[in-house]
Amino acid sequence: MACKACGSANETKLGSEVNLHFPGPMSLDEPGFFVFPKLAVCLDCGFTQATLTERELCLLRRVLAGRRQTPIGNYTDAA
Ligand SMILES: [Zn+2]
Repeated sequence: MACKACGSANETKLGSEVNLHFPGPMSLDEPGFFVFPKLAVCLDCGFTQATLTERELCLLRRVLAGRRQTPIGNYTDAA
């Protein structure tokens, strides 16, 4: 598959671990959300795409559904 940024076919796929942080103040009981996306890295320009597994997407949707958006665009706990 060609790089979406430069069109190069010189890409490699790598595993990774990423700690996602949600907008707004960081709390101790919600330090982040770990995911392990597969990365497609362009070895010519560095453009990188990440793909989450379906399970990670489902969990992320649940976490986000438990939060509500404030008028300034940050998320806070829904409780
Ligand atoms: Zn590229």
